[in-house]
Amino acid sequence: MKDFSTILVAVDFSESSNNAFQLALKMANKYAARLILLHVINEPVDLRGFYVPHISFEKLEEEIEQGAKKLMESFCRQHLVDVEDYQTLIVPGLPYEQIIQQAQDHSADLIVLGTHGRTGLDHVLFGSTAEKVVRKSVLPVLTVRLQND
Ligand code: AMP
Repeated sequence: MKDFSTILVAVDFSESSNNAFQLALKMANKYAARLILLHVINEPVDLRGFYVPHISFEKLEEEIEQGAKKLMESFCRQHLVDVEDYQTLIVPGLPYEQIIQQAQDHSADLIVLGTHGRTGLDHVLFGSTAEKVVRKSVLPVLTVRLQND
C-alpha cells in the first residue's frame, strides 16, 4: 500500500474536529503529504426562497460564506504557521456528502474527522456525520475521539 500523499481533514471548528486536525497535521508531516482542510456550510437548501424572498437568501448566503472564510483564515493563522503544503475548501451542502465528494474530487487517500462535532450529541456514541462518512466512503477514514468524550 502506498503512503498517504493527500490527507483531507473535515473541520467544523469544534473541539473534536480541532483534535482530529492535530492528528491529521502530524500525519501530513510524517508522510510529507498535502493537507486539505474542508469546511462544509450546512445548507437548508430545500427552504431556499420558500419562507423569505430569494434576494435576502442570497445576501444571507454571502454573509455566511464570508463568516466561514474568516473562521477558516483565523484557524489557519493559528494552527498552520510553518506549514506550506495545505489547501482550504469551503463548500455548501450536506457535510457527509461533501466530505466524501471533495475527498474523491481532490484525490485524497485519507479522510480524517472527529467522532463528534458542534452539535455535541452526547447520547450517540458516534456523531451523525462521522457515522455516515465511515459507512459510505470508499476511501479510508480515520476518526479521532477526544480523550474525555
Ligand atoms: P458530527 O458527526 O456532526 O458530530 O461531526 C463529526 C465530525 O465530522 C466533526 O468532528 C468534523 O470533523 C466533521 N464535520 C461535521 N460537520 C462538519 C462540517 N460542516 N464541515 C466539515 N466537517 C464537519
